[in-house]
Amino acid sequence: MMKRKYQTTMESFIKTAANSDEGLEEYNLKWSRDDDVLWAATKNFSLKEEEKELKVAAYDLDGTIIGTKSGKAVGKHAHDWRLYAHLVPEKLVKETDRGFVICIFTNQAGIKSNYTPEGMIRVKFQQVIRKLAVPCAIFVSCTYGYSRKPSTGMWKTFLRSVSNGKSIASSSFFVGDAAGRQKDFSDSDRKFARNCNLDFYTPEEYFYGDQDNSVRDLPLKGIDFKAMLVKEPTSLLDPPNALDSLKAGEQQMIILIGYPGAGKSTFSEAHLTPLGVVRINMDTLGTKAKCFSLAQTSLAEGRSVVIDNTNPRPDSRGPFIDIAKARNIPARAFHFQASKDFAMHMSAVRRNQGGRMIPPQAYALYNNGFRKPQLEEGFLDIVSVGFVPVFKDEAHKQAFLECT
Ligand SMILES: [Mg+2]
Repeated sequence: MMKRKYQTTMESFIKTAANSDEGLEEYNLKWSRDDDVLWAATKNFSLKEEEKELKVAAYDLDGTIIGTKSGKAVGKHAHDWRLYAHLVPEKLVKETDRGFVICIFTNQAGIKSNYTPEGMIRVKFQQVIRKLAVPCAIFVSCTYGYSRKPSTGMWKTFLRSVSNGKSIASSSFFVGDAAGRQKDFSDSDRKFARNCNLDFYTPEEYFYGDQDNSVRDLPLKGIDFKAMLVKEPTSLLDPPNALDSLKAGEQQMIILIGYPGAGKSTFSEAHLTPLGVVRINMDTLGTKAKCFSLAQTSLAEGRSVVIDNTNPRPDSRGPFIDIAKARNIPARAFHFQASKDFAMHMSAVRRNQGGRMIPPQAYALYNNGFRKPQLEEGFLDIVSVGFVPVFKDEAHKQAFLECT
């Protein structure tokens, strides 16, 4: 009797195991790389040829589709994961029945530092997708660059590689846990949804219908860049005639003061270089000594100079003022009004356009030593420099309008 029961259990176990494997090879992921985006689709992922519009059901992964068994924020090994909720696979299958294609967008910069190696991530994601057992595509950002949410590199990969030129239906949406609530570590999922023009839901709201966790009425922090563009552009300079004396040929030293990314170099090149002003910049010259030396020789040649460094402290500005004073040449402060958030946004825009991003520590360093420029330091005047966006092309403007 016992033996028979054992045999039956064993047979049914083997049968179940065989059944559960059946068809799962359809969910095998075939990986590709697009710059710093790793992406894959299941074998059975396909778009309906006849439909012009693509209904996209998009999800974040960590904290949305899965959590960790260990309770850590990020799973440290391939098996340290569990579904966010039991109903996740069922809910995703329902979305495919409603005609949506399932896509996952996940930030995994740990791949670059090898904190979470790429091989481990692939094994883990394959397990997750088999568990979901739904046709889907998954996009993985491997760096801190343009592909990292909230920037839209992964979405661009999706549009290029998967959407096949179809337009994206307005019913498309994104679900993510980084929504900018008090308990959230960031709002990058919500900003990503906004950048991609997708409706946004938190996992609690989406999976459980929990309206208390809706962020619909919660203002998104940061700067509303779209609103900035429709506002009346503020005057660039206050006073507006601040460049008249320079234009009239007076020799001057102009000391710029502002965050990295506040627009100092752009201003110099657009407004001062055409007037023959020599630009003195630490990044290009390399050392302070070279900056002092070029300031001295240029003034001796009768030319005006602009000190295009951040110059946050009186002791960073003082030595330059002394050089001007020694020749009886007026030193002027041009203080850039761009806030820290704004300057950081501009830095991220530059990165998203393929340029260099300024490390966040540079902003803390600026803030720590910052003192507002005062006439007592020896300045002839203090000019306030506002911000008027100037875009080199449409792509630059679009990059500016993205939340970063
Ligand atoms: Mg998450």
